[in-house]
Amino acid sequence: MSNPTSYDVATLRNLFPILHRKVKGKDLVYLDNAATSQKPIQVIDALVHYYTHYNANIHRGLHTLADEATAAYEAARVAVQQFIGAAFHEEIIFTKGTTESINIVARSWGSAFLQRGDEIIISSLEHHANIVPWQMIAEEKGAILKVIPMDDNGVLDMGAYSNMLSEKTKFVSIIHVSNALGIINPVEEIIALAHEKNALVLLDGAQSCVHLDIDVKKLDCDFYVFSGHKIYGPTGVGVLYGKRELLEKMPPFLGGGEMIKEVTFEKTTYNELPFKFEAGTPNIADVIVLKPAIDFINNYGKANIRAHEEELLAYATSKLKEIEGLKIIGDVQNKISVISFVIEGVHPQDLAILLDNQGIAVRTGHHCAQPLMQRLGIVGTTRVSFAAYNTLAEIEVLIAALHKSLKMLR
Ligand code: PMP
Repeated sequence: MSNPTSYDVATLRNLFPILHRKVKGKDLVYLDNAATSQKPIQVIDALVHYYTHYNANIHRGLHTLADEATAAYEAARVAVQQFIGAAFHEEIIFTKGTTESINIVARSWGSAFLQRGDEIIISSLEHHANIVPWQMIAEEKGAILKVIPMDDNGVLDMGAYSNMLSEKTKFVSIIHVSNALGIINPVEEIIALAHEKNALVLLDGAQSCVHLDIDVKKLDCDFYVFSGHKIYGPTGVGVLYGKRELLEKMPPFLGGGEMIKEVTFEKTTYNELPFKFEAGTPNIADVIVLKPAIDFINNYGKANIRAHEEELLAYATSKLKEIEGLKIIGDVQNKISVISFVIEGVHPQDLAILLDNQGIAVRTGHHCAQPLMQRLGIVGTTRVSFAAYNTLAEIEVLIAALHKSLKMLR
């Protein structure tokens, strides 16, 4: 980490086999990184290596393969702990992804601690994964869900948030970085204000984890969640970080093997952290290969990757703004390398199809944030999102393809 590999995007691209494929006869230009990032060869090789050499069930085995798999699985936990600055490795729970992590907190913490009339606060920018679980538990417990409003550019109204907080507020669950618009929310302030009222705070880090330096101790968030597949890692695995004293008080989410200490037909005692929340055989292979994904990021250095992405963001933003009728939503200073835009008279889906014909992958639609789109009064946006391997030349290709597509659509 202290001595990152020097940043040469051409060399870096060579680590990603998929970037060398063609789409519709054209070089692939992959600009859908906020949905999922591509995987470097170290991650792909580590997955094959696991299944080829030491596939075994973990923790309970007394044989070499089980020992090796357990050691690699627990090494991934320590890698994640260091990646997000957690104080203890047992504060890292492996889940299926961000969605499952939020559901665990809403269900486990909510069922134990929420009472009728309690209030939960989310924001206008939330992904469905940070809306629906809270609606479900609020309905069950008779709690009230409140939503922080925003302006037309997606900036949260912090005055309204401050006024919304009261002794009734028990939980604040906030998207750290908006997947739909790229905006970085003022989470330090959000957390400090919530804590003044003794409310807990969960940060949905699905989009922040790969771009920003994350130190959960410094942030002082109570929970932080993210998915492996957005940090150059595999699908099917994610992380729930929670402060130890909170996780210890929360009841298990799933019951079964691994999460128990002792079972009789009369009574079960639960295992300690983190196993209490990891019932059954986990996704061993994908957890293990989170480590090479994190190593990849650390080798290049988050700051170097971010600087590269910021260059792409600035260039693409200025080029896009030259297009007549194009409006960027979330055009603020404090954002990551995501650009969401609408073009007058053009349906985003039509545009996506024409871009795909030119080998360019972008995302269009509501980005799993329908209430945000309703608030903005639009059906959806076209979103381009950059990763470590994107290039200025790819932005040129995008801009040329946009001009060509718009000639056909207008
Ligand atoms: N929150 C945000 C901000 C996201 O971007 C996503 C993924 N688009 C999710 C939650 C859900 O993540 P997953 O589908 O990996 O569970």
